[in-house]
Amino acid sequence: MKYYNEKIETLPKDELEKLQYQELKTLVTRLFGNSKFYHDKMKEAGVSPDDIKSISDITKLPFMKKTDLRDNYPDKLVCVPHEDLVRYHVSSGTTGKPTVVAYTKNDIELWAEAVARSLTSCGLSNKDTIQVCYGYGLFTGGLGLHYGGEKIGATVIPASTGNSQRQIELIQDLGTTAVACTPSYFIHLIDVAKKMGIDLNKDTKLRTAVLGAEPWTDEMRKYIFEMSGVTAHNIFGTSELSGPMFSDCSELNGMHICGDIAYTEIIDPKTGEQLPAGEKGELTITVLKKEAIPMIRYRIGDITSIIEGDCPCGRTSPRIDRLQGRVDDMLIIRGINVFPSAVEHALLKNSFLTSHFMIEVSRKGPLDDMLVKVELKPEAMTDSINGLIEMQGITERTLRDALNVSARVELCPPNTLPRFEGKAKRVTDLRRL
Ligand code: AMP
Ligand code: ZN
Repeated sequence: MKYYNEKIETLPKDELEKLQYQELKTLVTRLFGNSKFYHDKMKEAGVSPDDIKSISDITKLPFMKKTDLRDNYPDKLVCVPHEDLVRYHVSSGTTGKPTVVAYTKNDIELWAEAVARSLTSCGLSNKDTIQVCYGYGLFTGGLGLHYGGEKIGATVIPASTGNSQRQIELIQDLGTTAVACTPSYFIHLIDVAKKMGIDLNKDTKLRTAVLGAEPWTDEMRKYIFEMSGVTAHNIFGTSELSGPMFSDCSELNGMHICGDIAYTEIIDPKTGEQLPAGEKGELTITVLKKEAIPMIRYRIGDITSIIEGDCPCGRTSPRIDRLQGRVDDMLIIRGINVFPSAVEHALLKNSFLTSHFMIEVSRKGPLDDMLVKVELKPEAMTDSINGLIEMQGITERTLRDALNVSARVELCPPNTLPRFEGKAKRVTDLRRL
């Protein structure tokens, strides 16, 4: 099956815009009438539902930020009676205090529909066995992929994170064809399988990984394929939007944000102006149908761009490029902006390195100092001092060329740097401590 919901996923663009407009108008009218928070916010911005006459009028509406959720902790933004709520999730607090998200039955249904479409676009179906190795619980990853997987009729294994040897045994014993987890956990699973003497490509049926919850790169996708024969797809979401929702398709070139569910804008983080397709800025999403805690023009804080042009897969919803990281993940090293994902991108250009790395930033006198620790592949380990110095020099040069700022490199033996079951925490910024 190519699409989960063909009619809506391939809707002509003008019809999609009409639908988006209708949904937005209904949402804004409802919120203006029944939510003090949204009513006050719109009044303050001098806008009322009557001002929304087409989808492009969305720019008249005020933005929402994570602080709106924090300031209204735990549930002051809930717009439905408590009887209508069926679930709470609490964000992992990627950047500070966690936020609470509430769901009605329809919200859960919409979320599962989005994940079902995403999993189908990753090539999965009721023939697949999906092992969900995202955390189950307050984090949205586990249950999000679980419900979406069941919706497409796949056999779902709620493995959750951790107990990695057991994960590999399950992959073998239950004939798992797809795994969903963070990219950093997946590369850990590859290592664990190797140590157990299992070749994921030859000894298991695993062919697909649906990876998200943290930034990763195309180089990582290649690395994963080389190491395991598994095709890695990117999936994105945030707890405020409901959880993981939107993924790339068979083209592996950008994630489709289902247009009937969410309206996508990229804005200039400084001015708030909408940016055209192709230009990088802050991802801003309006979930058009959310009931419990609607999100209008939510500034997610992740930097990306809308990919220009139609996708050969036939889906008409906009595609966003890989997320580079959140505005607040960005390190400023001697005045130069550095995203940890750019470090990963550069490191994996060297075939002797793995994707296990850590970044330590400190201040040496008046200057910022960046130390990148990275593990060598076992086959690259050598006793030759000259060999090590050469690899270190090459790595330092690739980093300098890619980042425009120099970094010191420490090559580490295999299996010496930390592994992560959930989101990786690769940066220690001693300047902030
Ligand atoms: P949470 O609210 O804890 O679910 O975290 C959501 C955040 O995780 C997003 O705003 C992104 O910064 C990050 N994230 C989730 N999925 C991806 C992805 N596929 N690529 C890059 N970052 C991601
Ligand atoms: Zn596509």
